[in-house]
Amino acid sequence: MAKYVYDFTEGNRNLKDLLGGKGANLAEMTNLGLPVPPGFTITSEACRHYLAEGATPDALEQEVAEHLGALEERMGRRLGQADDPLLVSVRSGAKFSMPGMMETVLNIGLNDESVHGLAKQSGGNDRFAWDSYRRLIQMFGKTVLGIDGELFEHALETVKGDRQDTDLGAGELQTLVETFKGIVREQTGKDFPADPREQMRLAVMAVFDSWNAPRAILYRRQERIPADLGTAVNIVAMVFGNCGNDSGTGVAFTRDPGTGRQGVYGDYLQNAQGEDVVAGIRNTIPLQELERLDKRSYDELMTIMETLENHYRDLCDIEFTIERGKLWMLQTRVGKRTAAAAFCIAVQLVDQGLISMDEAVTRVTGDQLAMLMFPRFNGGAGKRRIAKGMNASPGAAVGKAVFSSERAVELAGQGENVILVRRETNPDDLVGMIAAQGVLTSRGGKTSHAAVVARGMGKTCVCGAEELEVSVSERRFTAPGGVVVTEGEVISIDGTSGVVYLGEVPVVDSSVVEYFEGAEPDEDLVKAVDRIMRHADAARRLGVRANADTPEDAARARRFGAEGIGLCRTEHMFLGERRQLVEDLVLATGAEERQAALDALEPHQKEDFVGIFQAMDGRPVTVRLIDPPLHEFLPDLVDLSVKVATGAATDKDRALLAAVRRLHEQNPMLGLRGVRLGLVIPGLFAMQVRAIAQAAREVPGARPEIMIPLVAAVQELEAVREEAVAILAEAGVDALVGTMIETPRAALTAGQIAEAAEFFSFGTNDLTQMVWGFSRDDVEASFFSRYLELGIFGVSPFETLDRDGVGRLVALAVADGRRSRPDLKIGICGEHGGDPDSVHFCHDTGLDYVSCSPFRIPVARLEAGRAALSDSDSDTR
Ligand code: ADP
Ligand code: MG
Ligand code: MG
Repeated sequence: MAKYVYDFTEGNRNLKDLLGGKGANLAEMTNLGLPVPPGFTITSEACRHYLAEGATPDALEQEVAEHLGALEERMGRRLGQADDPLLVSVRSGAKFSMPGMMETVLNIGLNDESVHGLAKQSGGNDRFAWDSYRRLIQMFGKTVLGIDGELFEHALETVKGDRQDTDLGAGELQTLVETFKGIVREQTGKDFPADPREQMRLAVMAVFDSWNAPRAILYRRQERIPADLGTAVNIVAMVFGNCGNDSGTGVAFTRDPGTGRQGVYGDYLQNAQGEDVVAGIRNTIPLQELERLDKRSYDELMTIMETLENHYRDLCDIEFTIERGKLWMLQTRVGKRTAAAAFCIAVQLVDQGLISMDEAVTRVTGDQLAMLMFPRFNGGAGKRRIAKGMNASPGAAVGKAVFSSERAVELAGQGENVILVRRETNPDDLVGMIAAQGVLTSRGGKTSHAAVVARGMGKTCVCGAEELEVSVSERRFTAPGGVVVTEGEVISIDGTSGVVYLGEVPVVDSSVVEYFEGAEPDEDLVKAVDRIMRHADAARRLGVRANADTPEDAARARRFGAEGIGLCRTEHMFLGERRQLVEDLVLATGAEERQAALDALEPHQKEDFVGIFQAMDGRPVTVRLIDPPLHEFLPDLVDLSVKVATGAATDKDRALLAAVRRLHEQNPMLGLRGVRLGLVIPGLFAMQVRAIAQAAREVPGARPEIMIPLVAAVQELEAVREEAVAILAEAGVDALVGTMIETPRAALTAGQIAEAAEFFSFGTNDLTQMVWGFSRDDVEASFFSRYLELGIFGVSPFETLDRDGVGRLVALAVADGRRSRPDLKIGICGEHGGDPDSVHFCHDTGLDYVSCSPFRIPVARLEAGRAALSDSDSDTR
């Protein structure tokens, strides 16, 4: 029989699927002997059942009652018992942490009677009891009953005036409770439920339901978390941080999530409960100051943090509460961190002997590396610095200030860069945060909602810039010195230093890029990147090549670690001053004129190849013969028509206009291009092959590979191959001749094609277009955002290779190709070659190399290393 409830003593950290992250880690801490309040977890399986069937499983009620009974026994109190109540929290907790996305209700079990019992229990602390009660109605009203939280906030503000919440006395809080109950009655037509068990039951359902709240759905889509996991629910005996100044609540990291440096990082708030710290209702104090306030708890906390780091072998974040000098642990998990911190922490843990270098490589990702390669501000010299907040999530962001999520989305939709400015963010701001370049808040610390979510998304964030007065209703903020910034004015925020500038600050290269460019590693971060890259390179099986068309790109690619060029496009060689020559080619009326035009192009082509072969210094260079439709090289139809209409046209213009009309295609991506051009225009491919051969003769050690685009049938390839082989033989140049696999038919007939090809290179951009039937330029603008919204795919198939569709064709072509020609060399040269997930796919599918743009090469190297290391992981398992 299914078991739907686990006591904290029964679980462990490996049960995240079932118990959620929070529950699994509460169990793990319990079993480590740490001070965790007792409690139990209702499994995500129960939630899945509830979401699917609309009702909880039959056995659940009984199991919960048994566990609650055991908890009451243990605590010596019954839930909501009038004279001496047990109170509990009901907390959501899914497998993947979804900060602020799900619901939690504290102080369950209070009602008009038990509130007196609680006061008595606390030695007559009426203020504490009524404060807890008003919190219950407020949280329950908002999250379980769905009442607008503003109504409670407003009532609280009215009573509070200019005072802090801690200044409210017992009498005022008691009155507030009546007001809150009135709000509940008014909004729901029913009384606030006084029965403790009913409170608990409703709260559990609300947590289950919150799985499908719009903001949770959006967050999952953004983070690519599967939609059908469901959430677990934790029922935890309450401990109270709001008993007075000997109590409080805090959050901490075992090391700095921004830089990875070891030390004490956290925020603490005296006389407060749970959410208060992250909600920014009062200003927190740095955790270090707790040592002065309560040395015993502080020391115990430090010991526990060390225990957790050694146990999890990673940075952990924690939530804790102190109730009258007694420390309680309420949550831990392996903490989110910035990209820079991820690299630094990984090598620190190696140096501490906690993890191996292999594991260190798997602890960082290509996405994080890519983030470190973003440019940063050049120090902001000459720009007006208007405030400094906390460096919550690194990077450099420039954009127009906007003060609401709606505006952020609206302006971003018009192609504007925006910075979302708020006093503090809440889960409803998620859409705005996604749309913005960066986020700036005036309240809240490094653990605030804005900071946590921005770090998770890799979005630049400065938080807690307290000098700023943000007025959302007036759509502006003020900064010291009389600075007023209204909506639409450009600001720049530096998530690495926390500084906010007025106007646009220019940006410079990152130190990680400088390192890849050849600079000696000096800062800790760069040293960490260096060590991890070396290890990844040693581990990887996949080769990494570059897509590069110019000697400059080729040289940069080599510095970044490219082992060759996987795609050298030749079309740019027909642009600029050489357009003229292409026009002559198109307008040629006979064989002779055509050959003359080709002869004129050849020396230019040769020069281009010489430069690239030199830059690659003996490494292979795959040259793709001309691919795009010829009309791309001709003047614009409209321009020509206007010229002709206004009488400004020359004879050549008139001829060109006729040619453009003749070459016009309804669907050029499926028209006269690639190998089809080579077969239709005699001498075109031959000219290119000759130029390659001549260049190869001039550059010692050059290793050209000739690649034919858009082949769909082996007969096409055979026809052009024969000519190419003859030219190469005549020139005495050794070069492989191969093909792109970018039409579905090529993939399906790869066995035949391999007879005529010495290598394959998957052109996954075209292949994706043709397999999906998407015209990329059209669909991305017109309906992709809708498809992403609807979850038809979690990520564009042009960004991450679609394993289920395109991937199957690739795998089939690899298998059939190698069957015909066992030593067939196989690579990929679409944009997917630099995408982390796609690199893993290429590794798994047995490709020899990936090829990507120069800036993605370090990412591909790292991911190829990670892919190889995760193989050997599973070998040892
Ligand atoms: P989240 O997932 O948003 O962090 P939590 O379930 O962790 O939500 O709870 C919100 C806040 O309430 C946290 O600060 C947590 O530490 C606090 N809290 C939760 N359960 C208890 C409890 N039993 N006693 C005291 N504080 C609690
Ligand atoms: Mg929490
Ligand atoms: Mg293509």
